[in-house]
Amino acid sequence: MHVGVMGTGYVGLVTGACFAEMGNDVILMDIDEAKIDALSSGLVPIYEPGLEQIIARNVAEKRLHFTTDLQATVEQSLINFIAVGTPPDQSGNADLSQVFTVAREIGRAVKTYKIIVTKSTVPVGTTHKVREIIAEETEHPFDVASNPEFLKEGNAIDDCMKPERVVVGVDDVRVGEILKELYSPFVRTGKPILGMDVISSEMTKYAANGLLATKISFVNELSRLCERVGANVEMVRTGIGSDSRIGPQFLFAGLGYGGSCFPKDVEALTHTARDHGVRLSILEAVQEANRAQKQHFINKISAHYGNGSLEGKRFALWGLSFKPRTDDIRDAPSLEVIKALLDKGARIKAYDPVAMESAGRLLGDSIEYAAGNYEAVEGADALIIVTEWNEFRHPDFTRIKEALVEPVIFDGRNLYDSQKMAELGFDYHSIGR
Ligand code: NAD
Repeated sequence: MHVGVMGTGYVGLVTGACFAEMGNDVILMDIDEAKIDALSSGLVPIYEPGLEQIIARNVAEKRLHFTTDLQATVEQSLINFIAVGTPPDQSGNADLSQVFTVAREIGRAVKTYKIIVTKSTVPVGTTHKVREIIAEETEHPFDVASNPEFLKEGNAIDDCMKPERVVVGVDDVRVGEILKELYSPFVRTGKPILGMDVISSEMTKYAANGLLATKISFVNELSRLCERVGANVEMVRTGIGSDSRIGPQFLFAGLGYGGSCFPKDVEALTHTARDHGVRLSILEAVQEANRAQKQHFINKISAHYGNGSLEGKRFALWGLSFKPRTDDIRDAPSLEVIKALLDKGARIKAYDPVAMESAGRLLGDSIEYAAGNYEAVEGADALIIVTEWNEFRHPDFTRIKEALVEPVIFDGRNLYDSQKMAELGFDYHSIGR
């Protein structure tokens, strides 16, 4: 099939590469010339395990093409995905300007029958608004559909190649059949392609992220109670997670959720609800618990030093990306921790296996960057762990202890055994234990 993807970010790039991997002819389009130039010369602008190889293979096979030319993309593609950003606007609503700009340009480029699919996470009603915009620009026939993306950064290729389900929202069953055909190679193990109406499809994406965020905030809030009553949240987590009605995932207490999706999607959903006269009080509480969790961790650090200024203190910080296996730092908890500590006068030397460059673009020289995790701790007053990269799970504790001025660790991800850390002579602070 001939597929066009407008927006070559984390989602567009990964899904486009995966469509090509299944033998489709794919054009990836973006307005960012530097990005398209980089991709055209073989450079992948984001870190995502396995992505580089898939792109290289499909470019070599001439199934994957990059361009800034939207019109040519639409002309050559039957199915056109909109995968541009939908960041929050100032009020917390989803800013749909990128989606609507692309929709209008697609409308101007439609000269023969086309299917236009919203893959970006968009509030209910957006896909139909896209239809209106396109209809203002063309008299040729076209259909719209909603096909939200559920991939997780860090595991995106696998999620895309072997999705647990594909959601396809259509107004016309024939469009559904074409999209099912496109996705059939991805679901050979029997996973479902769920056909539904467009509005329910748009809502499904937000509902999924809302519920996952709820699990995280639930366990985080519980972790604060665990600390007070002497329970261990790790034991509670395994105790409840082994119940198949609850499940083990998204029950890890930590620093709260971040990233480019959960915060903005939960916020956007509560806004949509309010616009329609419904209050999603659970999700409002989820957001509040998430804010409080980050503050709780910052308070722990602050309390250790008497709640005063942190002038003269230097902290090692491990992990900048919002989660492991990605270089994405959008809304990463690290940013909030760093800001709070800098505001109190502390200095920070950070290390992240892949997100140093993206963090550097945002944070500049407000912090120092270490070449390795051990270099970061050299001469630091304490180690702060923010992202649970695998390589942080079994470090050389003797080396860390020798490098630190004092053997203090604030672990926002519960990576280590509290008892073992005490035996090793660390003053070890974690979450909910
Ligand atoms: P991103 O910021 O990485 O990529 C968006 C891309 O769109 C950028 O490359 C940008 O240059 C491009 N763009 C903007 N305006 C354009 C235009 N007029 N024409 C062509 N390209 C244009 O965003 P992302 O993380 O890939 O997210 C895209 C959408 O997918 C969002 O709605 C997001 O909520 C959703 N989503 C993201 C993830 C994720 O893990 N990142 C997962 C599921 C869904």
